[in-house]
Amino acid sequence: MTKIPKEKIIRLLKDQKEIFNDDLFEPKQQFVKPGKKDYPDLQSKAKKIGVKEPSQKEVQLFESEQETWETSNSLDELNKLICNCTKCGLHKNRNKFVFGSGNPNADVMVIGEGPGAEEDAQGLPFVGRAGKLLTDILKAIKFERDEVFIANIIKCRPPGNRTPLPDEMDTCIPYLKKQIELIQPKLILCLGLTAAKGLLKQKESLTKLRGKVYEYEGISTMVTFHPAALLRNPNWKRDCWEDVKKFRKLYDEIS
Ligand code: SF4
Repeated sequence: MTKIPKEKIIRLLKDQKEIFNDDLFEPKQQFVKPGKKDYPDLQSKAKKIGVKEPSQKEVQLFESEQETWETSNSLDELNKLICNCTKCGLHKNRNKFVFGSGNPNADVMVIGEGPGAEEDAQGLPFVGRAGKLLTDILKAIKFERDEVFIANIIKCRPPGNRTPLPDEMDTCIPYLKKQIELIQPKLILCLGLTAAKGLLKQKESLTKLRGKVYEYEGISTMVTFHPAALLRNPNWKRDCWEDVKKFRKLYDEIS
């Protein structure tokens, strides 16, 4: 474990006092600078500098904040570091954080909008009817679901399945970008306008975005309908089929 400088500990504990007041500290206790001795862990450091000993949970929280998700080297590590995220208001109503699932070395990433009720309950992306349709679409173009990696623009369910707000997307999307950086897929398929807007920063309608190949950080990216939209409007399935056939052709060409 990384050794934490004493000054940082003192600063953190002072910050904690500002936020939590005496819930975390004994009243009237003063901060004193630690002596020369190197303390083996945060709890004993806290004891030595005259503050109430933090609980194991507080120590773990402190230690996890020392690690930054931006430098994660694997999806598992990233998931561990961001799964308790409270950066936007969507954390308040979530049951489960939905990181994404699939092959960590996938050639293909499929990106949707955000978790719905089923996904929020299970902590997995694209489950339920829309998920089954996605699995069928992938199968139709000869991809197994566990061969690709499936993720969303946002990781927590918006109330009532509303479209994520721009600031929620801006706050969450760096996590997705880090996932893409770690997976390094050859191709990305965006499902629906929110995914296309979020990742490609495109402002056109879905009708105009479909069927073309875009670049995200050098990765070829295409856009088609979200499976939930196809369930609501089955007459769009034909266009979606045309899109995914092109996507498969592009994959065969670059593989
Ligand atoms: S939606 Fe994203 S940014 Fe907002 S709380 Fe969930 S993980 Fe954090």
